[in-house]
Amino acid sequence: MEGSKGSSLLAMAWRTIAAGIVCAVCAGCAHTPSAAVSPATPTGRAMVVATPSAEPEPGAGLAIALPTPTVPGAALATAQPTPAMLPDEWVTITILYDNVPFHQGIQTAWGYACLVRAGETVLLFDTGGDPELLLANMATLGVEPKAIDAVVLSHEHLDHSGGLAGLIAAGARPTVYVPAAFPDGLKANLASQTVLVEVAGAMEVAPGVWSTGQMGTSPDEQALAVRTGEGVVVITGCAHPGVVTMARAAQQAVGGDLALVMGGFHLEDAGEAEIERTIEGLRALGVQRVAPSHCTGDRARQLLAEEFGDACLQAGAGWSMVLGLPPDA
Ligand SMILES: [Zn+2]
Ligand SMILES: [Zn+2]
Repeated sequence: MEGSKGSSLLAMAWRTIAAGIVCAVCAGCAHTPSAAVSPATPTGRAMVVATPSAEPEPGAGLAIALPTPTVPGAALATAQPTPAMLPDEWVTITILYDNVPFHQGIQTAWGYACLVRAGETVLLFDTGGDPELLLANMATLGVEPKAIDAVVLSHEHLDHSGGLAGLIAAGARPTVYVPAAFPDGLKANLASQTVLVEVAGAMEVAPGVWSTGQMGTSPDEQALAVRTGEGVVVITGCAHPGVVTMARAAQQAVGGDLALVMGGFHLEDAGEAEIERTIEGLRALGVQRVAPSHCTGDRARQLLAEEFGDACLQAGAGWSMVLGLPPDA
């Protein structure tokens, strides 16, 4: 029954949140998020940063048994079921590639890639830089390259676009969405191997999943906006045009509350004043949660954690989140 399935999941998710353990691969790995993850408002909303509990409740929608490594740092011996493989009635967002570590079994390197499953859509936002590392992390997380329908490249920098060659070599033929200002040589190369879509203005790239359209200059960059039952999730690659500017554009394109802004916030070289301005800007937009990683920088992540408290989610490679589909999906 739909209702009981949903409420069972919710109960499970809350239990996982209460434990303060968040992980895409297992419920008990030894990583230590610096801030415990807990809901900003205990209203029973389904937004969770969690995996299914190792002991799912009977009748729960997520009948996935997850192993609990007992040795900190132990490599994952086999691919494990993850939220990336959950049934269609959920939105799952999983960071496949990040320089910020999260799970010991997931490799890190400079760059970013994030898998979005929403309904029947399986979409990769950015691809990291190293094709082999991307494929290795996908294998560990149980993500099949050929299952990816679409790739949205935020911008041309290699730490976001380099992994695409690995996907194509592995047999994937996704439709690839790039900023229209992408270099001509790269566009021609991509167009010869797969379906290429040049994005200028905001557009829906899959049901409920939007590009902001290209923004900024050198490089032009697009962010992703995902409609969920909890509001809009904005994912930025590097946020060269500014994370506040991109989050605002996402809100304008899609409408609704900004439930979460995640990804690279490009504040690594920013001074305190710029970081504070950015935090104020996110607050002014009503951003409920943030999950900064990649090029956000340690100082900015620290200040975001101080400002947002538990609503600053400690994300990195292998981190995942499960959300509800929007009501009209
Ligand atoms: Zn980057
Ligand atoms: Zn960049």
